[in-house]
Amino acid sequence: MRKIKKILIANRGEIALRILRCCRELGIRTVAVHSSADRDLKHVLLADEAVCIGPAAAPKSYLSMSALISAAEVTQADAIHPGYGFLSENADFAEGVEQSGFIFIGPRPETIRLMGSKTNAKAEMIAAGVPCVPGSEGVLPDDEGKCHDIANAVGYPVLIKAASGGGGRGMHVVRSPDTLIEKIQMARIEAQNAFNDAAVFMEKYLETPRHVEFQVLADGEGHAVHLGERDCSMQRRNQKVVEESPAPGITPEQRAEIGALCVAACKRIGYRGAGTFEFLYENGHFYFIEMNTRIQVEHPVTEMVTGVDLIRQQIQIAAGQGLTLQQDDILFRGHAIECRINAEDPEKFIPSPGKIEKYHAPGGPGVRVDSHVYSGYSVPPHYDSMIGKLIVHGRDRPAALARMKQALSEMVIEGIKCNIPLQQRIMQDKVFASGTHNIHYLEKMLNRSV
Ligand code: ADP
Repeated sequence: MRKIKKILIANRGEIALRILRCCRELGIRTVAVHSSADRDLKHVLLADEAVCIGPAAAPKSYLSMSALISAAEVTQADAIHPGYGFLSENADFAEGVEQSGFIFIGPRPETIRLMGSKTNAKAEMIAAGVPCVPGSEGVLPDDEGKCHDIANAVGYPVLIKAASGGGGRGMHVVRSPDTLIEKIQMARIEAQNAFNDAAVFMEKYLETPRHVEFQVLADGEGHAVHLGERDCSMQRRNQKVVEESPAPGITPEQRAEIGALCVAACKRIGYRGAGTFEFLYENGHFYFIEMNTRIQVEHPVTEMVTGVDLIRQQIQIAAGQGLTLQQDDILFRGHAIECRINAEDPEKFIPSPGKIEKYHAPGGPGVRVDSHVYSGYSVPPHYDSMIGKLIVHGRDRPAALARMKQALSEMVIEGIKCNIPLQQRIMQDKVFASGTHNIHYLEKMLNRSV
């Protein structure tokens, strides 16, 4: 067991603040790293130490492995928490951190590498008995005839995806054989440009699935638990907008069955830390699509229904204190919803950086705000437009929905544009209220005149 006395937070914004808050509760000292554009971030002001790691452009600061590791050396940190995004799923970074003598708060580098390849991840899942979307066995061959044979066997429509893909990029739906080869070539070029890996694979394209994902915790030594599921079907351009737990309509039996398969998969790959198995859910069936080997934006909804602090668990597992939770300890209480609050035009979705003149956070029972912003804070134009998350918990879904409507109505962000009006529209939507929406519903809703 290695004592963690000081953690370097290799991230920014709300997740950096979330990690800092947890460290302070645990009596762990904190090092904030920031770009020159981020000196006024809340967690930078609160951290025990702060190091400027480079200019505003992320490749020269938050994505600079050498700058981050040097900062850990200078401040004599014991461990590095990567948060989400940036280098959180970069196996080379995890390896560099460990080789430099620091603890990486996350899975082993080889696990990140394995699950970072969607085709390898799928092969592992199939071996663990986890249901997957039908498709090609591994990457597509160069032979055009063979690609046609695979597509015919899978059945149209099919989806071409990048093996090293992420962020919804490089995906192409193919509805008939005459465009198959052309779409595969397009996907290969995009994949090469975006991920430096031209390998693509094929999946059956599901027309109206929901996005349902399972949260897990594992100690890397063969013990793992699942913490139920989240529904993240409200998406725009493959980006999640609203998340909730539990997923509407998922029965306790389905939760136990799929959760147990995720636990089995964790054991098979020697998984360590917090992770998420993402599935598409259609006509009562789950189909694994990928694993995220890090904490996710939407982790608070799981925390609200289970009472488990996922960041704290990550730190304890990384410190070698193991996972003391047993599956029977995980109880699911009530319903939680999270709305992402973005600094963007609520209709045109153009980012809206700038100074927040006035900020009031909502409050009351069952209301949680994870945000780094404050009155007078300037949202820099260089990073993701998400400036916070509003999370509510209620005894059931209608109660959570009512609470979210009330909380949104109380939230004030002035000076910049934000998506609160969009979130209000979603919370008032009848289809969302009925819980029958799928991953295409939000785009359909947005195309309807207001
Ligand atoms: P990325 O890592 O690029 O985000 P994912 O595999 O997680 O890629 O897929 C992103 C999104 O694309 C999913 O949430 C879903 O909306 C859609 N998608 C992925 N695979 C399929 C599929 N086989 N059929 C239909 N939609 C899919």
